[in-house]
Amino acid sequence: MTVIKTTSDSTAQIATEREVLTSLKRGWKQRCPSCATGALYSSYLKVNDACPSCGQELHHQRADDAPPYFTMTIVGHIVVFGILFAEQNFSPPIWMQLAFWLPLTVLLSLWILPRVKGALIGYQWANRMHGFGSGAFEGADLVPTEPKPATTP
Ligand SMILES: [Zn+2]
Repeated sequence: MTVIKTTSDSTAQIATEREVLTSLKRGWKQRCPSCATGALYSSYLKVNDACPSCGQELHHQRADDAPPYFTMTIVGHIVVFGILFAEQNFSPPIWMQLAFWLPLTVLLSLWILPRVKGALIGYQWANRMHGFGSGAFEGADLVPTEPKPATTP
């Protein structure tokens, strides 16, 4: 848990907790990690600048190369396992393997990619990364607490 205190008040206040698993699920469903109702994307992979439902700013996201990396890892494990399993148990002809696994690889990648990207945006939002913890929407005037100095016995 990240403890955050306001700069305007000397009393430490716990900021609104952002559940990581819930945010991951909301992102996977391509919904706003804050309200779960607004659409995350305006098109296939184009993230809305702000949630159309609650106004949460989403332009802070920095998913970058991570979604394709995770997508390739997930799809690769599924497809390679499937190919090896089919080859060991049924030994189908190569053309049949190609006709089945190549389209499946493309379709699975296209299906998983926006979901993985959404989950990563949800993760960034939950951990207040890349500007998600500051700004006008929620958490204005919030700064992370300084770590306590180590005490020696
Ligand atoms: Zn929202």
